[in-house]
Amino acid sequence: MVAPKTAPPPVAFNDKWCKKCGICIRFCPVRVLEAGPSGVPRLARPDECTYCGLCEHLCPDYAAVVGRRPKKRGDGVER
Ligand code: SF4
Ligand code: SF4
Repeated sequence: MVAPKTAPPPVAFNDKWCKKCGICIRFCPVRVLEAGPSGVPRLARPDECTYCGLCEHLCPDYAAVVGRRPKKRGDGVER
């Protein structure tokens, strides 16, 4: 049996580089980021991320990396 493919999270945060400044959380246009228990941001609602790239662009420490938006096929399922 083959496990179904799951899309990677839209944004990855490098907790070694992140200085927990909160810039990405403050400026995310759709407010989907929040501080995790250690202060490093996490996506509270990954489905609502628009892949705009602003968090990556604004991060002064290159700690946020935005992935590529998954392609949708005709059946509407993200692959
Ligand atoms: S890519 Fe855009 S929408 Fe997604 S978390 Fe970053 S700033 Fe927010
Ligand atoms: S902007 Fe960069 S350094 Fe600041 S909290 Fe976000 S990921 Fe961390």
